[in-house]
Amino acid sequence: MIRIGAVFSLIAGAVAIGFLLDNPEETGKPILGLPVDCNMGERCYIQSFVDRDPGPGAADYACGSLSYDGHKGVDFRVATFVEMMKGIDIIAAAPGQVRATRDGIDDLGVDHYPLGQDCGNAVVIAHDNGWETQYCHLAKGSVSVNAEDLVETGDLLGKMGFSGRTEFPHLHLSVRKDGAPVDPFDGQEITLSCEASDADSLWSTDAKQDLSYQPGGIVDIGITNARPTLTAIRHGNQAIAQRASQKNLLIWARFFGVRMGDQLELHLIGPDGEIVSDITEIARNRAEEMRYAGRKALNGWTKGQYRARAAIIRAGRLFDSEDQVFVLN
Ligand SMILES: [Zn+2]
Repeated sequence: MIRIGAVFSLIAGAVAIGFLLDNPEETGKPILGLPVDCNMGERCYIQSFVDRDPGPGAADYACGSLSYDGHKGVDFRVATFVEMMKGIDIIAAAPGQVRATRDGIDDLGVDHYPLGQDCGNAVVIAHDNGWETQYCHLAKGSVSVNAEDLVETGDLLGKMGFSGRTEFPHLHLSVRKDGAPVDPFDGQEITLSCEASDADSLWSTDAKQDLSYQPGGIVDIGITNARPTLTAIRHGNQAIAQRASQKNLLIWARFFGVRMGDQLELHLIGPDGEIVSDITEIARNRAEEMRYAGRKALNGWTKGQYRARAAIIRAGRLFDSEDQVFVLN
């Protein structure tokens, strides 16, 4: 544009460049819609992005901590197995032809998957110009397309599941160009660092809005009478304290994308005042982190309302917080 020089005004050049950026198809790239039929930031959230750190560390495309070393896809997750069981549709991110499918692997995650079948139940779609999308960890028996089927953006492929090498229910989406992994958030080969330009994002305008970057936060909080476990919380069946007669009372909170130096706060306030005020500084980046703190009262607790509060302090400022009220009877 610039080379044409005096013939075009600068404004005309800017319009033409804008047109190219808004239409990846002009460059032979696919335009990707959301691969999950799910409200991002409410029911679903991104746990891990493609690792853009070429070294032994990990960094997401925004140079944040939401990745792990060697991760070649984007993980769309729900908070609990209960949410997974309600059914989350996995849908085609772009038009194409189904190249391969796999089904029949149990939803048992990392502990029980056939050797070499890390992706679990899966669908691979071939798009124009050597592009491919791959959808992993689908629910057993849910794959609803066959090899050679033609699909459009948004067509149902299966349900979110827990098959293959995974520790929690999620969709792992891989994007490839001529077999090489690409980060859909900047359209670059993943060997480039997180500082590479993200002007070539493959997401559609709508998807881009739904996928605005969330650099960590609080997933859920609760109070309980016994030491909580991350496994129980992931299953959505961590027992919630209900009876004041129990001796132990603990608050827990689950966080995602915590960073080295973050301060995680837990506060529990009962009818008689403060019970827990716990602050932990995080020593290293963690994709998912659960913290708990509690106290014992030999004669049980006062009946009534208890307010649980969790907060993340990042770089000295309140970054995220969540409050919830529980009642002990
Ligand atoms: Zn993944």
